[in-house]
Amino acid sequence: MQGLSGAAEPVDLVIIGAGPTGLFGAFYAGLRGLHAKIIDALPQPGGQLAVLYPEKFIYDVPGHPKIMAKDLVRLLVEQASTFNPVFCLGERAIGLRRADGLWVVETGRGVHPARAVLIAAGIGAFQPNRLGKPEIDQYEGRGLYYVVSERRPFRNKRVLIVGGGDTAVDWALNLKDYAAHITLIHRRDQFRAHPGSVAELMRSGIDIRLFHEIKAIHPGDDGTVREVVIFNNRTGEETRLPVDAVIMSLGFKADLGPIRGWGLETVGNRYIKVNARMETNLPGVYAAGDIAAPEGVEPLNLIVIGFAQAATAVNYAATYINPQAKVFPGHSSEMRLG
Ligand SMILES: Cc1cc2nc3c(=O)[nH]c(=O)nc-3n(C[C@H](O)[C@H](O)[C@H](O)COP(=O)(O)OP(=O)(O)OC[C@H]3O[C@@H](n4cnc5c(N)ncnc54)[C@H](O)[C@@H]3O)c2cc1C
Repeated sequence: MQGLSGAAEPVDLVIIGAGPTGLFGAFYAGLRGLHAKIIDALPQPGGQLAVLYPEKFIYDVPGHPKIMAKDLVRLLVEQASTFNPVFCLGERAIGLRRADGLWVVETGRGVHPARAVLIAAGIGAFQPNRLGKPEIDQYEGRGLYYVVSERRPFRNKRVLIVGGGDTAVDWALNLKDYAAHITLIHRRDQFRAHPGSVAELMRSGIDIRLFHEIKAIHPGDDGTVREVVIFNNRTGEETRLPVDAVIMSLGFKADLGPIRGWGLETVGNRYIKVNARMETNLPGVYAAGDIAAPEGVEPLNLIVIGFAQAATAVNYAATYINPQAKVFPGHSSEMRLG
């Protein structure tokens, strides 16, 4: 078995994933007196909130009648920072093994030993579905977007949005009075988005073209997107549209990626099986949030559920690390923090 040579100093808890679940887990670890390290493949914390819907309001976070996703991330980072966890961003966890009585998480950049591990990796490998046509995909970074994290690049731009799910519809509505013009094309006449959002889209006056798909992108002199050719998939009729940006919203692949090879019991390709304590089949390894499938119940992929699961996982991890510790953490209102 490989040892720990070249490894970082061991911490009590390594948390894989800096989405809302992992961030709250890091805070909770501090509350339990555990030193935590939080690892995320993305360069910034926040998970889906930061990447998929930073500028949308969330209405079902307790105590916040309405809060913008990026503001919730900022507050979660501030709350987690109370206890100075180590942040390792831009590092993807690729391996998990035992060495010298510790768990060891390996990333492309380092070796991170810990007494316990909390996997809060959400939908796992965060990969947008791509069209798979190199002649179109080659424009990514030159006006073609598979992931949109802010609306700034689209100010006063002519934008084509491709897709019929929540992300496509939400960005169309979000950019409506911000971009110069929006065209939304969808290959069917049924949307997968929330019915309320679809109704709003239909009322919005946005240029919507059903049964249309993208056929080609033509660049301007600077090599960036300048024109698209779309076609009606029922009649074959082609239309040229002058556009400055194309947002491809074809959904995201939910896949555990390298986590599948770690010896964890999983539920399909999507979930890690956990019990009511958020324990996986590996002692000392816990899972919480969107990635966790608690036995006997349907997984509820919601922020609030991830928060509660993170607290549960960390409280049990505290007793795994120190068998003398109690599961109940005490009340934070009786502690002096910050
Ligand atoms: C458009 C949209 C709107 C939503 N609106 C709401 C809402 O209003 N209310 C609500 O409650 N929920 C909402 N959700 C769901 C909510 O965003 C998720 O339930 C929540 O993000 C789950 O948090 P998480 O921390 O478990 O996972 P995530 O947010 O997915 O974070 C997981 C993190 O783990 C990282 N990661 C994954 N694999 C690795 C690896 N191998 N190594 C390192 N890092 C890794 C990822 O990069 C990611 O940053 C919405 C989701 C979407 C897509």
